[in-house]
Amino acid sequence: MLELVQKQRLFFDTGTTLDIDFRRQRLRQLQQSIRQHEQDLFDAMYTDFHKPKVEAYSTEVGYVELELKDALKNLNKWAKPRRVKESVINFPSRSYIHAEPYGLTLIIGPWNYPFQLLINPLIGAIAAGNCAILKPSELTPATSAVISRMIRQNFDDEYVAAVEGGVATTEELLRQRFDYIFFTGSTKVGKVVMKAAAEHLTPVTLELGGKSPAIVAEDADLSLAARRITWGKFINAGQTCVAPDYVLVQEQVKEELIQLIRQCITEFYGPEPEQSPDYAHIVNDAHFNRLTAFLKSGLIRAGGQTNSANRYISPTILDQVNWQHPVMQEEIFGPILPVISIQSIDEAIQTVKAHEKPLALYLFSSSKEKQARVLKHAHFGGGCINDTISHLINPHLPFGGVGGSGMGSYHGHNTFNLFSHQKSVLHRGTWLDLPQRYPPYHNRLPLL
Ligand code: NAD
Repeated sequence: MLELVQKQRLFFDTGTTLDIDFRRQRLRQLQQSIRQHEQDLFDAMYTDFHKPKVEAYSTEVGYVELELKDALKNLNKWAKPRRVKESVINFPSRSYIHAEPYGLTLIIGPWNYPFQLLINPLIGAIAAGNCAILKPSELTPATSAVISRMIRQNFDDEYVAAVEGGVATTEELLRQRFDYIFFTGSTKVGKVVMKAAAEHLTPVTLELGGKSPAIVAEDADLSLAARRITWGKFINAGQTCVAPDYVLVQEQVKEELIQLIRQCITEFYGPEPEQSPDYAHIVNDAHFNRLTAFLKSGLIRAGGQTNSANRYISPTILDQVNWQHPVMQEEIFGPILPVISIQSIDEAIQTVKAHEKPLALYLFSSSKEKQARVLKHAHFGGGCINDTISHLINPHLPFGGVGGSGMGSYHGHNTFNLFSHQKSVLHRGTWLDLPQRYPPYHNRLPLL
């Protein structure tokens, strides 16, 4: 590992990656490779956990292609030194911010969106002129193998390399000195990464998880709320960092909402979701066992069927759940949706505030006043009013968590900025040099 890192350090120091054309060429190469391997990626994600092809395209391959297109289109503009206003005190001068690559970057990915969450940061790392080592998740071995093959075929490892392996491999990587670490995964491992990074004072982005609520007010368009919650919860079988983890719904409309979500489940996945080509399965036995244990919490109002042979858990609604139940003690990360009643929007805000700041929050309400109140008083990474998950799709919205759900944000131009050090430089004119700033001061206070 040390050898690989040293090789990358030597290559970075040649200055090759400072050239914008070099970066553009490599992004194009990545683009071509993705097109060539599209089917391999779909097959691999299906092998790993039955990820439906449409979801593998819309949330992984197609999404990454959009980000690549955006980076290729805007790279020149993003990489140009940006002039900023002057301070009168420095007259005469000109000031610029230079986007400078950090150097060696480490990108560690999770298994749930195994392609997108590794390659999207890589686009930013390359665009900003860095070298990169990718660490795909060991829990999705088929996808990890395709990614490694693509990287090997298109990049010299002194520039971009993929290192496959589990915890021990990641630990060894984390002992090396990097200039930036981008980690996506659990809060627990995020702490391990941050501790290791502190040893070298390496800056980190931590894209973590948490329990993201969907709040449904009595004045919401309930059938639309049900459709959008059902979609956001059960896409990827609930194994999505920004999935609505649970629903807080005003008591008066709770029963109607549960009925509507039940109908949506049948409409989307048919009477037997196990047969649906549009429904993913659980990634491994450990997660399957963890999730099936949650089915003992509260009362099952829809679903609840499981099949250990293919790690299938049907889309499930849980009623009569409280915060002492195991299902409410950790991020669910699976197709189980607890629905909890609240008396008021203020109670929902208090509930959110009583726990770690979530990665996402979704509010369904037609009241501008309620929308404003929740946005002002509840703290969360990002979210939607009257929708779920869709805020991720806008590249102009920085995506990331806060507090327990992480730090740092990316997507679009933000990814380029995240992988660049903002180097501030003042060019001072030489034709004027006022003597007042130099000692002896004669006790004169400067004019500020
Ligand atoms: P994880 O933290 O278990 O694993 C992530 C990566 O860390 C993997 O590559 C793994 O090999 C490595 N790893 C695991 N244990 C380690 C250890 N002890 N030391 C060093 N490295 C270790 O996460 P996961 O199960 O792959 O992903 C699920 C989690 O990721 C959920 O909490 C989810 O919310 C979160 N997530 C967040 C985002 C986001 O964008 N914020 C996106 C997807 C997933």
